[in-house]
Amino acid sequence: MQLSETVQKLKPSATIAAAAKARELKNTGVHVYEFTLGEPDFVTPEHICEAAREAIAAGHTHYTAATGIAELKQAICSRYLQDHGLEYSPSQVVVSNGAKHSIHNVLTALCGPGDEVIIPTPYWVSYSALVELTGATPVEVETTQDSGFCLSAEQFSAAITPRTRLLMLNNPCNPTGGAYPVETLEALAKVAVERDIPVLSDEIYEKLIYEGSTFRSFATFGEEVAKRTIIVSGVSKAYAMTGWRIGWTLAPADLTAAMSKLQSQETSNPCSISQYAAVAALEGSQDCVETMRQEFARRREYVLGRLRSLPDISFAEPGGAFYAFFDVSRHFGRKLGGGVQVNDASEFCTALLEQAHVALVTGDAFGAPGYVRLSFATNLSVLEAGFDRLEAFLKG
Ligand SMILES: *Cc1c(COP(=O)(O)O)cnc(C)c1O
Repeated sequence: MQLSETVQKLKPSATIAAAAKARELKNTGVHVYEFTLGEPDFVTPEHICEAAREAIAAGHTHYTAATGIAELKQAICSRYLQDHGLEYSPSQVVVSNGAKHSIHNVLTALCGPGDEVIIPTPYWVSYSALVELTGATPVEVETTQDSGFCLSAEQFSAAITPRTRLLMLNNPCNPTGGAYPVETLEALAKVAVERDIPVLSDEIYEKLIYEGSTFRSFATFGEEVAKRTIIVSGVSKAYAMTGWRIGWTLAPADLTAAMSKLQSQETSNPCSISQYAAVAALEGSQDCVETMRQEFARRREYVLGRLRSLPDISFAEPGGAFYAFFDVSRHFGRKLGGGVQVNDASEFCTALLEQAHVALVTGDAFGAPGYVRLSFATNLSVLEAGFDRLEAFLKG
């Protein structure tokens, strides 16, 4: 069949592809140490699951308002008021099928052919693909390990052209774990106001912040900043709810209306049952979030300890999320495990999987050649065995 030009140009999600490759090897009977997953390994807390069962029993199994039920919009607004002192009204909320869908809504409502969208690299795999789907051009700006992979105000300013429609910021960042210091955010916000550039702030990892780092929502730097900010978030990461597919935007009313129209034509409402579960997540006790964060923090400590003792790799400590992102380029051209030589991060990941049965994601997928991403959303004993094998592989 003749496929559209749009879909022919589209790359498949590299993280999903990496997980599929690991699964393929697993299916041949090999035990694979899997660190490609971009989702919490915990089960969804019981009180949230119970709310979903109650929603079914109560007959909440029909269409809802396209942008979500009033209870959920109110729960989202209440949480932002409580957590960040931000006053949003339900008319500024669109609930979608996951934050990825929310990002698509924002991009489709704001961008088209000829427009530019600034994306700091390394970036989450879907950012550039979603921008390209609108016909706009991603403008990648390289951040450095020294800055903790944070975009500076100078870099932001220098990347702006008359065609710039949006900055896509991800704080804390997938794949680097980079958590923006307040001063950096404030400086970026100043540029956004001065140059009048909207900012999509993907804050899906806001609850997963570790010692030494802090989180500030981008919309908290004053009214002029909030007017130009689109917060994107959801329940996937904080509440271990990736499969439920609930994300949202908090945005100025005019953009919200545009996205509502779009969503009403494209998908209608996100799953009614999941919406009730999300209400329970946001309104119930937040202890489960902290319990999971503490477990991630323990794993992060372990991972950092192991990374420090690996030969010839370098990294910036992740301040948030659940990823370690490290530079393996000094191993290119050397004899690694099984006598294999590699020349880039993709070859490195393939060799590591084949020789040591350890699955990582290549930095090439995130616009960061030479790097690899390890997800520590897996238990300590798997991490321990995986690092033993990675270490042996590096030593050749
Ligand atoms: C996981 C993730 C999302 C979206 O997740 P959904 O499951 O679609 O809500 C968005 N942004 C980043 C950076 C992520 O890692």
